[in-house]
Amino acid sequence: MAFIIVDDCNLCDKCVDPCPNDAITEGDDIYIIDPEKCTECVGFFDVPQCADVCPVDACITDEDRVESEADLLERARALHPGKEIPDDAPSHFRA
Ligand code: SF4
Repeated sequence: MAFIIVDDCNLCDKCVDPCPNDAITEGDDIYIIDPEKCTECVGFFDVPQCADVCPVDACITDEDRVESEADLLERARALHPGKEIPDDAPSHFRA
C-alpha cells in the first residue's frame, strides 16, 4: 500500500529528504509520491517517514494499492541493488 499525498499538502518540503527511496517530487500544487518507488519505508524504518514528518497529515495510505510486506521488501531490494536488506529489516508491519 503505497502512500499518497493529498491536497492538504502545502509544499513545506519536510517529506522529501527523509524518504529513503527518493519517491517524492514536487508537482504543480502539491508533492507527489511515485508508487513504484514507495515501500512504505519497509526495509529502512519502522515508521513511514513522510507521514511522520508531515505537519498537516497530508501523507496517507492509498487504500486502492494494498501490498504485502514481502512485496515491499522486494521493491526495496530492487530499488537499492547494492544494499543488503534482510527479511527482518525495519518495517511498520512489525513495529
Ligand atoms: Fe517515501 Fe516512506 Fe513516504 Fe513511501 S512511505 S513515500 S518510502 S517516506
